[in-house]
Amino acid sequence: MSETSFDAIIIGAGVIGGAVALELADRGHRTLTVDKAPSAGSGSTINSCAIVRFSYSSVAGINLAWEGMHYWKDWANYIAAEDELGLIEYHMTGQLVLQQAGAETHAARVKMLWDEMGIPHEVWDTATIKERCPYIDPSLFGPPMRPADDAFWKDPTGVIERGYFTPDAGYVSDPQLSCHNLQRGAELRGGTFWFNAEVTSVDREGGRVAGVTLADGRAPKAPIVVNVAGPHSYLINQMADVYDTMNIKTKALRHEVHHVPSPDGVDFDRVGITVADDDLGIYFRPEVGNHILIGSGDPTCDPREFVDPDRYERSLYPDQYEAQVLRANRRLPGLGMPHERKGIVDLYDVSDDWIPIYDRTDLDGFYVAIGTSGNQYKNAGSAGQMMADLIEAVEAGHDHERDPLVVKGRYSGVDLDVGFFSRNRQINPNSSMSVHG
Ligand SMILES: Cc1cc2nc3c(=O)[nH]c(=O)nc-3n(C[C@H](O)[C@H](O)[C@H](O)COP(=O)(O)OP(=O)(O)OC[C@H]3O[C@@H](n4cnc5c(N)ncnc54)[C@H](O)[C@@H]3O)c2cc1C
Repeated sequence: MSETSFDAIIIGAGVIGGAVALELADRGHRTLTVDKAPSAGSGSTINSCAIVRFSYSSVAGINLAWEGMHYWKDWANYIAAEDELGLIEYHMTGQLVLQQAGAETHAARVKMLWDEMGIPHEVWDTATIKERCPYIDPSLFGPPMRPADDAFWKDPTGVIERGYFTPDAGYVSDPQLSCHNLQRGAELRGGTFWFNAEVTSVDREGGRVAGVTLADGRAPKAPIVVNVAGPHSYLINQMADVYDTMNIKTKALRHEVHHVPSPDGVDFDRVGITVADDDLGIYFRPEVGNHILIGSGDPTCDPREFVDPDRYERSLYPDQYEAQVLRANRRLPGLGMPHERKGIVDLYDVSDDWIPIYDRTDLDGFYVAIGTSGNQYKNAGSAGQMMADLIEAVEAGHDHERDPLVVKGRYSGVDLDVGFFSRNRQINPNSSMSVHG
């Protein structure tokens, strides 16, 4: 095998690309990961809230997340390599899903699926929410609105009667470090990483993929290429000439997450949990230094801005900052409105139904792990296993189109239904069409 010839090339060293590389390397495949950035995890992963939760709208989505959580709990064994930067820590705070008004809610569907599937959870009534989270105001304020709407300022209409708490949920506070950990794990198993290495073409030979060409002229070869390019995934699919062959498409959506100090007197670092709040259209979690991260749950009143992933506004929009932080003020009294706006702007790689695509393509040897839609950080480990199982099965002759692969998660033994994440599925009507997936 020459220095520019590999068993598999992975495009992207984010958390999903890193997990695919580690998994393939662990199974003895000679992998090359190429990334145009100077270091691992410098794409959308760097700004991820990295919340680990199980509140998905489908059995397949919940299974992937449930299995994925076990990797975070068992991180040191999974990586099984030294990292001079240290290993990430999993903060198992638990997650509370607040039940907004109305019967047909995402929270109600999630609760029904958790009951059917046996996902451990507690039902909290209003008194329990107040007792366990005294910093939370459990009033009903919804539906979500923007502060420019007079109705935003109206008095609460009632109280939240129920919340669903999963104790195994939590977050990772340094998502970029998790990618470095994955890189070191893959390298220890023989994987190679090239940074500042931008793919400019996906190359074919004899009707199948044969490698990639980089902006600097290098052209590494491999019979397998995996597109894990995050918000740039559609551009790589266009290079491979498979974009038009897929029923489900992906595009880059601009998103903001705001970073605010905890209310006075609340040690959110110690007592804070992650909360999904559809009543206000936000989610939040503790961040180191007694801060809180606030994201949007994509309520319909928030504008959606699809962008060119190489040209978009990277400073915070004052009105979006106000919307998210004022909503959080209603749930967390005393939070206030900091004079200095802090937060991040980054991109989701959104698929048509906000469910990822983990699949082969019409180009033999070319695979995709894309469309992660703002919600797949948590699934890196389980997606890595699923992709490696898929690649090995298809390369061994399995017809995944006719007989969609179902594999067992190595930790929990749940079914990972690869076919559910097909590029050619019909748009899933049960999807929340939001970051909830
Ligand atoms: C603001 C925000 C908050 C989020 N919060 C959560 C959360 O709380 N929980 C959760 O589970 N998920 C969350 N997500 C989603 C999660 O972070 C992503 O699904 C995940 O990080 C995607 O990882 P990836 O490896 O697929 O992509 P990326 O991390 O984007 O990596 C893709 C890599 O491909 C490289 N690349 C692109 N084009 C090329 C090219 N031509 N040549 C070479 N390299 C290329 C890029 O440089 C990049 O490093 C969030 C995402 C965002 C943006």
